[in-house]
Amino acid sequence: MKKNRQKPQALILDMDGVLWRGSQPLGNLPAIFDTIRALGLRVLLATNNATLSRDDYLEKLRKLSVELERWQVVNSGDATAHFLKQKFPTGGAVFIVGENGLAHTLAEAGFLKADADVLAVVVGMDRQLSYGQLGAAARAIRSGALFVGTNPDRTYPTPDGLMPGAGAVIAFLRAASDVEPIIIGKPSPEMYRVALERLQTTPETTLIVGDRLDTDILGAQAIGAQTALVLSGVSDEQSARSWQPPVDYIARDLTALIEELRVKFG
Ligand SMILES: [Mg+2]
Repeated sequence: MKKNRQKPQALILDMDGVLWRGSQPLGNLPAIFDTIRALGLRVLLATNNATLSRDDYLEKLRKLSVELERWQVVNSGDATAHFLKQKFPTGGAVFIVGENGLAHTLAEAGFLKADADVLAVVVGMDRQLSYGQLGAAARAIRSGALFVGTNPDRTYPTPDGLMPGAGAVIAFLRAASDVEPIIIGKPSPEMYRVALERLQTTPETTLIVGDRLDTDILGAQAIGAQTALVLSGVSDEQSARSWQPPVDYIARDLTALIEELRVKFG
């Protein structure tokens, strides 16, 4: 603890590296969510990973015995759909470099997957990506389609180690098209804006929890929220301790953080 922080009214939790690593849960998730409820905290999950839809995340949580409502999950795909809707209110065709979850989210907002004559090229993580698709996406961007990246995470934690994330694919297309992308996910404030709107809390009374300094914590500090870094994912303790401005809470994992909040505010 670097500062005297007031009791938060809400938590925004990152998922990969905070709730789980791949399919492996980090701690006793039902007990963690019970304690969050007992502390009277509203909770929302926000992830840069757009490969799964909100319903996919709810299903994944249900399998881990955690029941949440649909409004309590935001991914960078939702925030990207929100952004595109502001730009193109009537929807339209988009080239998608990404997985089914992203295509589903964009389709719900009126943006259908197409290979030509597209308004935008939307780029996320895609574990089936081919050189041919990358070439087609780069050509669409060169032809004038808006280049939108769902999130800047260059790597993605799995039980086998770090794998290339959306940011790595975006960097490839940036090099191949000579065009600068617009990036929507954390640390861009777009996602946290959607999250705070749903929680109906202010940044000052909201604690944002993540495992990455350069996305979760940077974005949270940019909007003036309280911050917590857990050491169960990408960033390590040494980088966390030297981060400026200081992170409010640094904890081994989510279990330890919630216990600290319980002792301090419970
Ligand atoms: Mg993470």
